[in-house]
Amino acid sequence: MTPIVGVRTDRGRVRDGNEDAYLVEEPLFGIADGMGGHIAGDVASNTAVDTIGAHAREEVPRDPDALVALVQAANQAIIDKTSEDPTLQGMGTTCTLILAADDHIDLAHVGDSRGYLYRDDELSQITEDHTLVGRMVREGRLDPQDAERHPQRNIITRALGIDRNVIVDKDTLPIQPGDRVLICSDGLTSMIDAGAIAEVLGSEPDPQAAADRLVDLANEAGGEDNITVVVLAFDDGGPDPERLQARQPTPIETPAATATASDRDRRDVPATGRSGGWGRKVVVTLLIIVLLLGGVFAFFRFVIVANSYFVATASDGHLAIYRGLPDDVFGVTFQEEIQTSTTTVGDLPEFLQEDVSNGIDADSLSDARTTLHNLEDRARDREFDKNPTRNQKGSK
Ligand code: CA
Repeated sequence: MTPIVGVRTDRGRVRDGNEDAYLVEEPLFGIADGMGGHIAGDVASNTAVDTIGAHAREEVPRDPDALVALVQAANQAIIDKTSEDPTLQGMGTTCTLILAADDHIDLAHVGDSRGYLYRDDELSQITEDHTLVGRMVREGRLDPQDAERHPQRNIITRALGIDRNVIVDKDTLPIQPGDRVLICSDGLTSMIDAGAIAEVLGSEPDPQAAADRLVDLANEAGGEDNITVVVLAFDDGGPDPERLQARQPTPIETPAATATASDRDRRDVPATGRSGGWGRKVVVTLLIIVLLLGGVFAFFRFVIVANSYFVATASDGHLAIYRGLPDDVFGVTFQEEIQTSTTTVGDLPEFLQEDVSNGIDADSLSDARTTLHNLEDRARDREFDKNPTRNQKGSK
C-alpha cells in the first residue's frame, strides 16, 4: 500500500531554532531530532536525513537490515563530520526510519523519537524509548504515566553520532487498510499525551490535517521543544465515518513485563529412586553439582559480567563507565572501570546525582558511552545556568 503522507515541522514556542529534520522520499519516511547545541544539533539531524536519502537513492532498501545499514551510514557520516570540525564536538541525533511496503512496514530506530501505529481505535507505540526513563519503565521501576513528566525524561541513552558501534532497533509490522502510522520527535510526546494523539488520528482522516492538528496541540500545550510529525495514512478510502462518531480516545498500550507460562507453571518433578551403588551415586551427584556450579559461575563471569556495563561514580567522584555489575554478588565485586570522565558527580544537577551514585545500567558499551556523554552535557548545561556568558547552551 502506498501511504498518503502528512508532514509538519515547527520550531515550537520556546526554542530559537529547529534542530529536527525529516525525510519523505517514497517509500522511505524518517525523522531525526538533533542535539548538541543550536548549530551542531541542526547539522547532526540534517546529516542523518541527507545521508539516508542519498544512500536510498542509489539503492532502494528492501528489508529492515537494509534500513539498519542506512541508519549506521548516517551514524558514520555524523562521526566523520565531528572529527573534521571540532566545533561540532558532542553533536548527535535520534533517528526513526520507516520503509513502506505492500502489506507491511519495516522500521529502524535509535533514540527517543517515537513511532506509533493507530488501528481500530487503538494507539500502540511501535518504538522503544532509548532514555533513562524508558529504561526505568521497562524494568518496572517507574510508572508509565509518571515517565511523561519525569525530570530525566529527555536523557537519551542511545543516539547517532556518539559511537561507531551504535545498536539500531529494527522491526517489521503488518499493515492493514485504514492504519495510521505516526513518527514524531519528543517535542510532540512531551507536550500531549497518547490519548490526545489517538483522538486526532482517529477523528482526522486527512493525514496533513492530522499532522497540523498534532503540532497545533503541542504548541497550545506550551511548545517547549521543536515538533516534527510525519503521518502515514494507509487507506482504502479512509476511516469508516460511522466509527468516527462513536470514537473514544484510547489509552496507549504500554509494553509490560509479562511472566512467561513456563515461569508460572514450573513444578517440581519428584525424583524417582532406583537401587544401585550408594557411594558411587553420591560421588557422581556431587560431581554433577560441582560441574553445574562451575558452569553457572563461568556463564555468570564470562557472559553476564563481561557483557554488562553501567555508568557510576568512581571513588574520587568522577563519572566512569564500568564493565560488570553495580552491586556485589555474595559479597564479591564484579566490576572494572574502563573509561573515566572529567565530569564529577557534583557537577550534575541534584536530581541526577542519586541515580548515578546507584549506577545506571546500559545495554552495551556504546549505550554506556552515550549515557555518559549525555550526563556530561547535563553538567555543562548546569555550569551554563550558573555562568551564562561562558559557553553556548547545548539543548536537546
Ligand atoms: Ca527534541
